[in-house]
Amino acid sequence: MTERNLNLDVYKEALLSKAAECRNDLEGARKEISIETTAEAMEHGSRAAERELAVERMETFYRLLLQVESALSRIERGTFGICLKCEDEAGQKRLDALPWAVLCLQCQEAAELVRESAGARRYDVRRAA
Ligand SMILES: [Zn+2]
Repeated sequence: MTERNLNLDVYKEALLSKAAECRNDLEGARKEISIETTAEAMEHGSRAAERELAVERMETFYRLLLQVESALSRIERGTFGICLKCEDEAGQKRLDALPWAVLCLQCQEAAELVRESAGARRYDVRRAA
C-alpha cells in the first residue's frame, strides 16, 4: 500500500452527516408513500405515479446510504479511498468531491461507458420493434 495522508476524520464527519441526511430523506419518502397508500389517495390515478416516484427516490436514497455506510466501514478497516476494482488510490480530489466513491475516476468512467452502451442497445431494440 502506498503512502496515504488522507485526513480520515474529515471524511468520516462528511460521511456521517451524509448518512444522517440520507436517513432523513429516506424517512421523508417513506412517509410520502404511506400517505399515498390511503384508500382515498388511491382513487386518484395520478397518485399512483407520484407514489412510484417516491419509491424510486427511496431506492436512490437507500443505495446512497449503503454506499456511505460502506465507506464508513472502509475507514474503520483502513481501506478507505482505495478503488474496489483496480485497488489503486481513488485520489484525494475525487474523495473530496465524493467521499463515498467506491471506484477511482478511471474505473467509474469505464463503468459508466458500459452502462451507457447497454442503455443505447436497449434503446435501439425498442426503436426497431
Ligand atoms: Zn480503479
